[in-house]
Amino acid sequence: MTIFKKIIDREIPADIVYEDEECLAFRDINPQAPVHLLVIPKKEISAVDALSPEDKTLVGHIFLVIQQLAKEFSLEDGFRVVTNNGLLAGQTVPHLHFHLLGGRPLLWPPG
Ligand code: 5GP
Repeated sequence: MTIFKKIIDREIPADIVYEDEECLAFRDINPQAPVHLLVIPKKEISAVDALSPEDKTLVGHIFLVIQQLAKEFSLEDGFRVVTNNGLLAGQTVPHLHFHLLGGRPLLWPPG
């Protein structure tokens, strides 16, 4: 069981900022920007490469939640959505998650 599943199940605490039937959003424990949220599906999907056609609506829903959170956290000047997939990308938790980063200028290209 991943740490994110434990957060979904309330087995470990997190600063949860949004929840509905399909997804959960909480503050990253090691924030890389003034606003650094993680938006995750409740369904256990390990990464982007494990998505299937039946997840289409779920992923679309998550992006609309991200849009809403960006407004709520006053990120109208810009924000970044990042998903790391696999070892080389630095994915450390094998439960699909979208980083929502903002509140400072974000450099490009990323490291
Ligand atoms: P990844 O490196 O897999 O793309 O991102 C995993 C993220 O989860 C990291 O930014 C890390 O700080 C965050 N994280 C890991 N464990 C926990 C935890 O127990 N609670 C919270 N809130 N964030 C976590």
